[in-house]
Amino acid sequence: MNNARSHDLFTRARELIPGGVNSPVRAFKSVGGEPFFAQRALGAHIFDVDGNAYVDYVGSWGPMIAGHARPEVLDAVARTMRDGLSFGVPNALEVTMAEAITTIVPSCEMVRMVNSGTEATLSAIRVARGATGRTRIVKFEGCYHGHGDSFLVKAGSGVMTLGLPNSPGVPAALADLTLTLPYNDFDAATRLFDEVGGDIAGLIIEPIVGNANCILPRDGYLQHLRALCTRHGTVLIFDEVMTGFRVALGGAQALYGITPDLSTFGKIIGGGMPVGAYGGRRDLMSQVAPSGPIYQAGTLSGNPVAMAAGLATLDLIRVPGFHDALERSTHALCDGLEAAAREAGVAFSTTRAPGMFGLYFREGPVETFEQAKQSDTARFNRFFHAMLERGVYLAPSAFEAGFMSSAHGEAEIAHTLEAARQSFALVRG
Ligand code: PMP
Repeated sequence: MNNARSHDLFTRARELIPGGVNSPVRAFKSVGGEPFFAQRALGAHIFDVDGNAYVDYVGSWGPMIAGHARPEVLDAVARTMRDGLSFGVPNALEVTMAEAITTIVPSCEMVRMVNSGTEATLSAIRVARGATGRTRIVKFEGCYHGHGDSFLVKAGSGVMTLGLPNSPGVPAALADLTLTLPYNDFDAATRLFDEVGGDIAGLIIEPIVGNANCILPRDGYLQHLRALCTRHGTVLIFDEVMTGFRVALGGAQALYGITPDLSTFGKIIGGGMPVGAYGGRRDLMSQVAPSGPIYQAGTLSGNPVAMAAGLATLDLIRVPGFHDALERSTHALCDGLEAAAREAGVAFSTTRAPGMFGLYFREGPVETFEQAKQSDTARFNRFFHAMLERGVYLAPSAFEAGFMSSAHGEAEIAHTLEAARQSFALVRG
């Protein structure tokens, strides 16, 4: 596979950008080798600067649920940008977006747009602290909520991939306020709340963990957390930056029938533009400035072009049956991968939610972070490269979820499974 141009760009990038990338997991550090540089993307495919094509299971890490470069989205962006890129005064698209989010996600009675998932989660935690007057927060081992100081404690995603569970630069005084729990452990949560429940401002969770590969909640687990938070006056925050609008139109809270107090979003609602949002109970959200004293702001928040891209994407996925089809194709892919691994005699299992999946080089089931960590990462890394050489781009880490889009049809899945049969045979040894 020719990668001369990517190699040249990466060499130049490494001189000037830390690790050569503007976000760590892009550097292929854990899987080894060098990243490819994107030239363009269309539908389920991404094309690199050397002319190689890949079936893309990363989808820009989630936003591209309707496939890359959808004309509906690009046209909305083009139309909107002709009127100017940013105004710094309110515009109608922000109202349309707020109406869309609060309609699709009923637990969000009010919503505030921001520019990334990180901004959304750190703003939500501020609201939880400001509204309760408490300082401690709870998060879960392996969950990633962006790079806000309070969240870089036993975090997942790149933090975990690179083995940096606690980041230098986060003051101990602040990190000490973040308590962590093992995901899917009912008793640990009960014990912690029994001990210090009255001090906990907010509990933040990825309802389906997508940043320690892909771990689904055990039956009743999210209900259990909901009940604990209600009993102890703790703000329950669902971080749906990844799951929102993906695992169901209304996100994981719709899939599992839970009403969180606050939710955070990103990715899909920006359609590929830099967007995040947080929203929830009116009594909490109305405490945000300027209607209340909890401060949060943004020069480019609610950017018209970003709103247009997000709204056009929401229009594409609001079509009845969209998520059912996504679920079917996710199962077709995962069933096919499991069958291919079995044929090759490789210990392997998958986890799935509609539109997202986890790949593990170990037998299933995987229901905890500890089990996820037992995946054979050396084998995953070889598999990743074997697939890449066969034109399939998986997330470049054993600890990231994969993403499906509506553009992943039978042909793309067949190509992927053929590549997988060959790749499993290669990594068997
Ligand atoms: N929360 C979750 C669940 C995420 O997956 C991510 C990013 N992958 C974030 C927050 C942070 O979002 P961003 O990278 O847009 O800051």
